[in-house]
Amino acid sequence: MAKPCTGLKVAIVGAGFAGLTTAIECRKRGADVVLFDSSPSRRQLGDIISFGSNSGRIFRSWPGVEEALDPICHHSDGLVFRAYDDDYLCTQKWGAEADWGKRFNGHRGEIHEIVWNHAVDLGVDIRLGNKVTEYFETETEAGAVVNGERIAADVVLAGDGVRSTARTIVLGFEDKPKSSGYAVYRSWMPTDKLKDNPLTAWLADPNIDHHVGWLGPDVHFLVATLQKGTACSWVLTHKDEADVEESWSAPGYVEDAVKAVDGWAPIVHAIIRATPEDALVDWKLVFRDPLPTWISPKRRIALIGDAAHPFLPTSIQGASQSMEDGVTAAICLELAGKGNVPEALRAYEKIRYPRVLATQRTGVTNRDNWHKADFDYVKKNPESVKLPRQDWVLNFDCSGHAYQVYAETVEELKENPDWKPDTSLS
Ligand SMILES: Cc1cc2nc3c(=O)[nH]c(=O)nc-3n(C[C@H](O)[C@H](O)[C@H](O)COP(=O)(O)OP(=O)(O)OC[C@H]3O[C@@H](n4cnc5c(N)ncnc54)[C@H](O)[C@@H]3O)c2cc1C
Repeated sequence: MAKPCTGLKVAIVGAGFAGLTTAIECRKRGADVVLFDSSPSRRQLGDIISFGSNSGRIFRSWPGVEEALDPICHHSDGLVFRAYDDDYLCTQKWGAEADWGKRFNGHRGEIHEIVWNHAVDLGVDIRLGNKVTEYFETETEAGAVVNGERIAADVVLAGDGVRSTARTIVLGFEDKPKSSGYAVYRSWMPTDKLKDNPLTAWLADPNIDHHVGWLGPDVHFLVATLQKGTACSWVLTHKDEADVEESWSAPGYVEDAVKAVDGWAPIVHAIIRATPEDALVDWKLVFRDPLPTWISPKRRIALIGDAAHPFLPTSIQGASQSMEDGVTAAICLELAGKGNVPEALRAYEKIRYPRVLATQRTGVTNRDNWHKADFDYVKKNPESVKLPRQDWVLNFDCSGHAYQVYAETVEELKENPDWKPDTSLS
């Protein structure tokens, strides 16, 4: 029997988690999927990345993926919070949310490879070294100019990341990023040097993965160990007004990172000083206001993932929400059918936008809860630093939800054809 999207031509831009999820979910439904990425190779770039139980559920729906992820991911039962002087504050246990499903935290490159292989196994045509420079659409098709060649499809889903060029056709102008006022030193490193120092040797325990957050005024330092005590990843978020392009490969310097935690406990300095210089990235956190829309004027091109909605890392939801986009877009295309692509994309935007915006807000509140905290208050009320864990974010089945609300969403859009998303982050 023909699958529901048989005959639908889908062009996807960007083989990040948004693009790959969209490709897998469209391909599962029988669409012809071609995926373009400008990178010349499937690189192992990145370090720790977190997927909440809402996207963990998506991984688990793909045969064999959970089994491949388990051995490489971090497994701890809680996040230990300590103050900048190493005073113990509290432990946030994950047991309370066990019923919501499984979380996956691990190296971005390693997780990416597993998802990539799953897409290839399903027959997704991934074309590397294919840079999209322009987009076009008519009433009946949409496409992209790829390495100078015009390629047409029924629909284009653009997951080309925070520096998306697809935004220009969607918005009708080129939007400008702005500094968030924060930057992150980040590293993924072997634990050899940690083992040699009595202050830090416990972090390299082969039997227990550790997750510890040291918090201080306007800085937080999170450390996770994994893979039987052989790997350690840390991120140090601090204030930074420098106007630097967002990048995963800008080199960071150990001495600069140490300066950001001047006066903090010796263990924090010891972890940073155990970092090989070539394993340190200085990532300026660029921010963008929520976009007025994610879909193009003729409704045949839609933004997905970071291209549509960059997240602050403190939401811990950027990658998860990108995956939810992919699942929802594929379901909308399935339910609309090849003849109703514009209806599918409008429904995709209306279903996803309010949820994404509400989740983006949690990134701002979580960051301010840690960074703007009065540490005299925190020491008296240590539980105040715990991350709010909302069940509406994490205990969520985006697939079931899309099937459930699609028809009513289309009806609402017919009744209110001028509907525009609320874009207020406050
Ligand atoms: C190299 C890299 C490393 C990262 N490391 C981390 C990390 O360690 N921790 C973390 O939390 N998050 C990391 N991120 C971000 C994280 O993956 C995303 O925030 C999240 O997963 C959403 O993904 P996305 O698919 O929307 O965008 P991205 O993951 O940014 O993927 C966008 C893709 O689009 C491709 N692309 C861009 N422009 C074009 C174009 N014009 N034509 C064709 N292809 C194009 C890029 O090559 C990239 O593969 C990283 C992103 C990248 C690209």
